[in-house]
Amino acid sequence: MLTVPLNDLRRVVIEDGSALRSTIDRVVDSGWYIFGPEHDGFEKDLAAYLGVTGAVAVGNGTDALEMAMAGLGVRPGSRVVTVANAGGYSSVAANRLGATPVLVDVAADSYLMDPESLRVTLAGCDAAAVVVTHLFGAMPDMGQIIEICRQFEVPVIEDCAQAIGATWDGKRAGTWGDVGAFSFYPTKNLGALGDGGAVVTDEQELATRLRALRQYGWTEKYRVEVAGGRNSRLDELQAAVLRVRLGMLDARNYARAAIAKRYGDALAGSEHRLLHAGSEGFVAHLAVVDTPRRDEMMRFLSGNGIGTAIHYPVGDHEQPGLDTESVQPLVNTDAALKRILTVPCFPELTAAEVEHVAATLNRFAAS
Ligand SMILES: *Cc1c(COP(=O)(O)O)cnc(C)c1O
Repeated sequence: MLTVPLNDLRRVVIEDGSALRSTIDRVVDSGWYIFGPEHDGFEKDLAAYLGVTGAVAVGNGTDALEMAMAGLGVRPGSRVVTVANAGGYSSVAANRLGATPVLVDVAADSYLMDPESLRVTLAGCDAAAVVVTHLFGAMPDMGQIIEICRQFEVPVIEDCAQAIGATWDGKRAGTWGDVGAFSFYPTKNLGALGDGGAVVTDEQELATRLRALRQYGWTEKYRVEVAGGRNSRLDELQAAVLRVRLGMLDARNYARAAIAKRYGDALAGSEHRLLHAGSEGFVAHLAVVDTPRRDEMMRFLSGNGIGTAIHYPVGDHEQPGLDTESVQPLVNTDAALKRILTVPCFPELTAAEVEHVAATLNRFAAS
């Protein structure tokens, strides 16, 4: 029987081939490992790809969120509005700053932030920032969300960890809000061979503050002018790897979206659906089935050699290690947590593997 892994990171390294190896060799031989030409080149390449003026590379995606919050003035006692079904990263970042996440519900169709719930929540708390998570590689109606946040005069952070290259209304994730936060964790659509992240913004002063925050609060060498600084840098090797892979990102995102579309078609007309399949601008970081028979589907897929996972099984409001609040009950969030199932979707899947997953989904839907 054909077995299909949920992911296999060796395959992309094989695809990258000699370009990746020669880049790594060049960095190793250069004798320059932090803040060298690859790092600066990657910041420029990323800014150009997204169409922003400032890209600041950092150590990982959670640091990116935390620094974005700190840069926008989130401090102990602040409220940060976000969703509860996105893995907890924003809540972890807010808690680290001594701030409290205020959780809003997701929309029943998209499982992304519900603009109406956002409006009610912003009216019911004094928020220092809103984090919009582009979960699974899909974006909510950003026009509407930005408008609501403007009305309440609250800055917007976009969590683009799963959505590099995604668009809403033709405009890229990370360019709608005040700051975009990215992760280059190895499984992300743009993945390093270790940890990595970035914050991007068009606001010059904010970019300067973020550059200080990522390196001890320095405005120049050995001069600590910005409070709350830390060390969170992207190293030269990871930057070089990311530059090679950035050139392949659009093609790989296209391949992901096509796989999700295939699964969506296989489930068409059934009580199950593949979230966001076929949607404009979706980059299919994860192919997530929405199903009333989740556990049964999981067993069926597993019995057919197909790897699955749940992204994510526990809401932020139910995590013992997180301190959160909410203004409204999280009705859609709680329902969604029981219905989601992630199936294999990465660009290096073979056509036979994709067809095996699609056919198995189709058989389950007919059963
Ligand atoms: C992966 C991820 C992060 C965190 O990124 P790290 O680099 O692992 O710290 C944040 N938000 C979302 C939505 C993610 O998927």
